[in-house]
Amino acid sequence: DSSFSNLHVAILSSPGMGHLIPVVVLANRLAAHHNVRVTVLQVTTAVAPPESKLLNLHVHKELVQIIQLPPVDISHLVGPSTQVVTQLCLMVREALPVIRSAIDAMDRRPDALFVDHFGTDALPIAAELNIAKYVYVPSTAWFTALTVYCPVLDQEIEGEYVDQLEDLRIPGCKPIRPEDVVEPMLDRNDQQYDEYVRMGKQIPLSDGILFNSWEDLEPKTIQALRENQTLRSIVNIPVYPIGPLRRPIEPAGPTSELISWLDRQPNESVLFVSFGSGGMLSTEQMTELAWGLELSCQRFIWVVRPPTRGRMDDAYLSIHNTSDDTPTYLPEGFSTRTRDVGLLVPTWAPQVEILSHPAVGGFLSHCGWSSTLESITNGVPMIAWPLYAEQRMNATFLVEEVGVAVRPGVLPTKQVVGREEIERLARSLIEHKEGQRMREKAKQLKLSGMDSLGHGGSSYKSMCEILSKIG
Ligand code: UDP
Repeated sequence: DSSFSNLHVAILSSPGMGHLIPVVVLANRLAAHHNVRVTVLQVTTAVAPPESKLLNLHVHKELVQIIQLPPVDISHLVGPSTQVVTQLCLMVREALPVIRSAIDAMDRRPDALFVDHFGTDALPIAAELNIAKYVYVPSTAWFTALTVYCPVLDQEIEGEYVDQLEDLRIPGCKPIRPEDVVEPMLDRNDQQYDEYVRMGKQIPLSDGILFNSWEDLEPKTIQALRENQTLRSIVNIPVYPIGPLRRPIEPAGPTSELISWLDRQPNESVLFVSFGSGGMLSTEQMTELAWGLELSCQRFIWVVRPPTRGRMDDAYLSIHNTSDDTPTYLPEGFSTRTRDVGLLVPTWAPQVEILSHPAVGGFLSHCGWSSTLESITNGVPMIAWPLYAEQRMNATFLVEEVGVAVRPGVLPTKQVVGREEIERLARSLIEHKEGQRMREKAKQLKLSGMDSLGHGGSSYKSMCEILSKIG
């Protein structure tokens, strides 16, 4: 049976849009497909990210409720060099009392608490209440395997991971190149590394792990998580691939200039360029990217943000100060020269709607996992341009394992990607056979993803299994 209308699940979302989106998507899925009542508890800080206003998040009205917890203040605990993962974990830790009060105040006590992987400190609350507890990793099985195995690597490996001469081995899984390790593993002396190792130790204390992937996308890794003896000795709990879950299309509005522009472009001809909710490039890289796009003569939509170096507010203030409407941080006259083929969208775009438009033929992306799924579930191949978090692993996975992406010869976090290379990548993705082959592959994945979510599909069954255990 797939209906679990007797169940109430609470899901904790760590701060930030990149974390709230996958949690709400999971909540909607539980409600719409399994009739589960869901309460999302969102950890917030006093400074709300500006995107939250721009994002018109669809929420299942009858069954899903989002509670924004009272904001936590961690200013006394952090300094200017405190890294993102540390901040996230501190916020969740500071929020524990308000999480507990919010659960106590519910008219009906939840039957289970789900947390995302930054929220594992909240698992003891579920234990106190004697309810089921699950960790949701809104990423791949491969990243999940690395996270739970990191405490072992921590014991076995001396020195920095990035300095290792050999790939990092995770039993049964594709090895990880030292330069691809996740952000919190880059510096073992930083607090965020300790937080990451702790996370890896706490995840196996839950009743099971959900991740946003599916059997056919990562068969080997999922099998390793289930059957590899060494891995099982560390994480002896069930793992559930439940994806590809992604946001539904949110109409950009009837008068959207962007969509009517797309409507006028040929099928599969437009390259969409965007770096997620937080990705920014240096001034030099912005210049090369602009030239690369222009030289490629391909159609594009580029979500532009002022570069990281230089004062950001300068760029904002002088945004219309050029001879045309080219932002000052892009090459002079760029907007005029690319007027017929390109669109610049400041800050934030309706990404899912763009990627599902037939005119879009490629996505130059930072490879955040939500963006990646939004791309491949629309049959759109990618130029992989990883920036932070686990994105270098995602890029390697997409290029080497799945075959739906091309990537620059240098790591964008280490070196500037030159204009000629960007030109070449854009052409090969949109115009050449290679791009066409990857598009076919992405379309197959789109279908396999849909199958896994359909009645009787593997992800559908995974979810039913979890819910039967809770119920
Ligand atoms: N997003 C969007 N418009 C933008 C930038 C981002 O709608 O201009 C959405 C995107 O569709 C995705 C999420 O924000 O759902 C970004 O998540 P992802 O995991 O790709 O990257 P993160 O922002 O966490 O690095």
